[in-house]
Amino acid sequence: MQSSNDPSNPSEQPNQADQSRLDEGRPRVLAIDDSDLIHKLLRIRLQHERLELHGAMNAEDGLRLARELKPELILLDIELGDVDGFDVLSKLKGDAETRNIAVIFISAFSEPADRVRALDLGAVDFITKPFEMNELTARVRSSLRLQAAMKMLAVRAQIDGLTGLWNRKYFDARLDGEFAEARRHGKPLSLIMTDIDKFKSLNDGYGHPFGDSVLEEFAHLLAGGRASDVACRYGGEEFGIVLPSTDIECARDVAERFREKLAAMKWPRHDDLRVTASFGVADLSCIAAGGTPKSIVEAADQALYRAKHGGRNRVELGTCVEPRLRKSA
Ligand code: GH3
Ligand code: MG
Ligand code: MG
Ligand code: MG
Repeated sequence: MQSSNDPSNPSEQPNQADQSRLDEGRPRVLAIDDSDLIHKLLRIRLQHERLELHGAMNAEDGLRLARELKPELILLDIELGDVDGFDVLSKLKGDAETRNIAVIFISAFSEPADRVRALDLGAVDFITKPFEMNELTARVRSSLRLQAAMKMLAVRAQIDGLTGLWNRKYFDARLDGEFAEARRHGKPLSLIMTDIDKFKSLNDGYGHPFGDSVLEEFAHLLAGGRASDVACRYGGEEFGIVLPSTDIECARDVAERFREKLAAMKWPRHDDLRVTASFGVADLSCIAAGGTPKSIVEAADQALYRAKHGGRNRVELGTCVEPRLRKSA
């Protein structure tokens, strides 16, 4: 598993498990049907497809497996013994965990009203039993392709175009998630905010394209930190690094390493140039009991402000207002 700093293979947030599975393995397909014969037929007819086929014989098992396996696609029978497949589809669409799974209805009935109802409820397609082999595989393939494309778009929407780091939208969502997790389990959480020093004069003196390349190199450096830390482009030449299960002292060391490495970097065609950045570090001890994720950003920002005013190229810590939790990742 790659680092969560690497958005091409994210690992710990909404959509990430799905994406890494798409990258690494075969997509999962779950067939929910009360007929053993249909499961056998599907196994035979889909055996040469690049997918992993799972089966459930009733609605209850199907819904449970849908939550557990998070398949890319569900083939759902309309007539599931006593249970109506439409009810199962409504439950899948009503659950945030299973809402985005593509569902193809399979049914012996091909009434237009059923097809319309299935599509209106959120099914992506409809296959009539008995299966026509080529049609079945073509529809499964097409649904999986569409699903993969949508997941890729969802991940891309969270990546910064210039640096390849997570973007501000992702930063906000991830910080919210890690904040809630840390509060729930009484674990530490740190945040580093960093801003390149005198970046405007760098742009002015060496050109905007060179400024861009500095941003890319700095982002690369930040992404190469510990696997559990999450480096994001916060905006412009400012970056935020979320450090789960990390106290402020440990986060300070991380920031200090980044600071030293950037200051020591050599720049092509500009031998004498030194680029530096300032860092503000905060953890949960820097915010009051009723604080929010925004409070930790404010605390890190205030520390960053002090780093700038203290002469730049330095790391400053947020002011402690709560007893400090000590634990390093
Ligand atoms: P300080 O040390 O106080 O941080 O000074 P600074 O010059 O770095 O700060 P300031 O906020 O004044 O300037 C930030 C500059 O970053 C201004 C803006 O044009 C530039 N910038 C923002 N985004 C990009 C980008 O994507 N590429 C380039 N090349 N420049 C950018
Ligand atoms: Mg049936
Ligand atoms: Mg700056
Ligand atoms: Mg700035």
